[in-house]
Amino acid sequence: MVHQVDQSKDVLKQDEQFVWHSMKPYNPNLTMVVTSAKGAWVTDINGNKYLDAMAGLWCVNTGYGRTELAEAAYDQLKEMAYYPLTHSHLPAVKLAEKLNEMLGGDYVIFFSNSGSEANEAAFKIARQYHQQRGQHNRYKIVSRYRSYHGNSMGALAATGQAQRKYKYEPLAPGFLHVSPPDTYRMLDSDLENAQDMACVKEVDRTMTWELSETVAAMIMEPIITGGGVLMPPDGYMKAVKEICEKHGALLIVDEVICGFGRTGKPFGFMNYEVQPDIITMAKGITSAYLPLSATAVKKEVYEAFKGNDEYDFFRHINTFGGNPAACALALKNLEIMENEKLFVRSKELGDQLLNELLAHLQNNPYVGDVRGKGLLVGIELVKNKATKEPLATGMVNEVIGTCKKNGLIIGKNGVTVEGYNNVLTLAPPLSLEDNDLSFIIQVLTNVLNELYLFESK
Ligand code: PMP
Repeated sequence: MVHQVDQSKDVLKQDEQFVWHSMKPYNPNLTMVVTSAKGAWVTDINGNKYLDAMAGLWCVNTGYGRTELAEAAYDQLKEMAYYPLTHSHLPAVKLAEKLNEMLGGDYVIFFSNSGSEANEAAFKIARQYHQQRGQHNRYKIVSRYRSYHGNSMGALAATGQAQRKYKYEPLAPGFLHVSPPDTYRMLDSDLENAQDMACVKEVDRTMTWELSETVAAMIMEPIITGGGVLMPPDGYMKAVKEICEKHGALLIVDEVICGFGRTGKPFGFMNYEVQPDIITMAKGITSAYLPLSATAVKKEVYEAFKGNDEYDFFRHINTFGGNPAACALALKNLEIMENEKLFVRSKELGDQLLNELLAHLQNNPYVGDVRGKGLLVGIELVKNKATKEPLATGMVNEVIGTCKKNGLIIGKNGVTVEGYNNVLTLAPPLSLEDNDLSFIIQVLTNVLNELYLFESK
């Protein structure tokens, strides 16, 4: 599969000189120069093809190479490339209407460009909402350890992964953290009743001890994705929403990854019988073809901003937010999801993926847990199934590297207290072909079943 002549050398040399990459230090062995992509597959400059089972960064939901998305943006750019949303334009109105319909018809939409910005807008809206209603002390935002909510000072403050904050602190003040549910490490008896779960009681206790009248909101993903695909136990999300209501706090649900069919429903929260006050979304909204994000706010929250005072409106300007081409493209993207029934497909393929992985890996000594919903799957690797001690990062990296050598790109997440990233993640395009699904299962199970070979390294 690997080509003889490495065409990427010169580009990577320039890359090293000019491009500052996110996350990892520059590593010529891992960096690909991707030149084209179609469906679930990406091709590098050497002609090597890889199935991208992470859909980029969990975002190319309708798959690569959709010319109709390019055309939707092109047509809009020719007609009217830009006007700020301090005024209005048709693509934004139509998209807001469509999102509102998907959410059940009770929301207004604020547009931005990234997930981080959508969350920043949500925090400011939550704080101002309470101010508007005369509750001037409500500013604290509660979130969960192991969550990721973005790279900006507020969104990073909400993030519950110390490793990502280290060296950037102090971040925005007023953010608190509580323990997430980790169903793999919870006892079966702890999973029976949501109200009795330690992680649920902790939310209640934190809001009480902090004084309810100082708490503005709680932010959570339906499923913690980047922290290692942590599934909410039955009744968990509903119980947390009830606690928020008891304390007068808004519930912000971060759908940046879980939205747009990733979990087999239009939005992740729809699996868990809750109706959030604020919903943030990005990534899958345009399948990442162009930057766009949105903060959907319940009408009754929005109504509080309708006073006549000059400080009553939401003073939050976003130059590029709701760019007309991005909105037009998003509308076409949602149309594709609808026409190709991709939410149903995500559920069906996701069930198949989970079941087959469970069947193939149940006797694998390193596979502690396989979990997920829709086309969002986490495989937790452990050193010892009895103690659940996480597998060392070096071994996890061997799995990722070997999968890549065999043409499969998968992700790695986790960030346990000890800093382990021991959860392999899968979040392929929802438009995945049946053959693609078989390829993922085949490569991954083969690599994991030979993992013992790396033990001696
Ligand atoms: N929330 C979640 C759950 C995310 O996973 C991310 C990004 N991976 C963000 C927010 C931030 O989105 P962005 O990178 O577009 O700012």
